[in-house]
Amino acid sequence: MADEFGLIKQYFQPLSQGLSVDETGIGDDGAVLNIVPNHQLVVVTDTLVSGVHFPEETTAYDIGWKALAVNLSDLAAMGARPAFFSLALTLPDSCPEWLSEFAKGLSDLAQLYKVPLVGGDTTKGPLTVTVTAQGWVKHNEAIMRSGAEPNDLVYVTQNIGDAALGLKVALNMFPDISSQSMAEEDRLLVLRALNRPEPQLIAIELLKTFASSAIDISDGLVADLTHIIERSSARSSQALFAEIQLEKIPVSKAVQRVIKEAEDWSMVLFGGDDYQLCFTVNPANQKQAEQFAKEAGVCITQIGEILSSAEVKSSSETAATGSSQRVQVLENKKPFLLKDRKGFLHFD
Ligand code: ADP
Ligand code: MG
Repeated sequence: MADEFGLIKQYFQPLSQGLSVDETGIGDDGAVLNIVPNHQLVVVTDTLVSGVHFPEETTAYDIGWKALAVNLSDLAAMGARPAFFSLALTLPDSCPEWLSEFAKGLSDLAQLYKVPLVGGDTTKGPLTVTVTAQGWVKHNEAIMRSGAEPNDLVYVTQNIGDAALGLKVALNMFPDISSQSMAEEDRLLVLRALNRPEPQLIAIELLKTFASSAIDISDGLVADLTHIIERSSARSSQALFAEIQLEKIPVSKAVQRVIKEAEDWSMVLFGGDDYQLCFTVNPANQKQAEQFAKEAGVCITQIGEILSSAEVKSSSETAATGSSQRVQVLENKKPFLLKDRKGFLHFD
């Protein structure tokens, strides 16, 4: 690649501001960083591959933003305060316009949370972006997927399903909901959710104070809540389930309209890429947690609860939703038959 060093200096060096005078970021063989006493380092990595994790037409700005956003979202789910990040970038060519927009997307989000870029690697090949981010959490205060207990309440932040609808719009995969038939404001909202996810770092204090477990929703609500159930069941050596109520799941007006027209809940239950948080709270803390969220300006909604196998409604109802389902979806208190619903196979 032509002048790799010039490229790094021009586009990425400016993102390394914010380090202490005794720290080293970009420019040497490795970054040298101070550690925060009595804290543990949380390390996360996510790779975005063109055509797999984002449509090929995605703008360079959005790719830069999203590559960092998905990592900061993982840190938020762990209750970790972002500290710094590195970037492994594989590019087909060194187009200056593309690089400049990419660096701008990355930089805008990095500045929002004051996270310096401390190093990386630049190679030639099919467009692939890997970000590794590090964050600090007080010793033993990281929030794990494994901490959910029976009777805990299940919450999510913001709305669910916007990004999955955005992907359908971006790929024109949804003939009923073509760009023309959707209101412009809905179209923009769901495309924004897909391309510029906002990591829910605002929820970190809430989670650290009240969450028994947490995960960020990257693979879909049901899939990610299942991860909480599996890890928590393994830790506590008991079979746990989650029951969630369809009508409680918060959705935007855009998603609501599609559900109404197409009777398709798949984007809410199985769609990925929302980067909202799903977490559990001991019911004794419900009021306090909700008050705390309100004061902190974090939008949260309780959508269900954790049950142990002894509490799961009845065996016939369990069978109706599939006995292997660790997450049972109810509609007006009755099992919601996932497989009967249109759209399920899109994500199967
Ligand atoms: P080395 O050959 O020792 O691996 P490189 O030539 O790959 O070093 O990188 C030189 C410096 O630039 C290093 O400090 C590295 O961390 C940094 N760097 C390389 N690529 C990137 C990138 N895409 N973003 C940020 N820093 C980078
Ligand atoms: Mg070296």
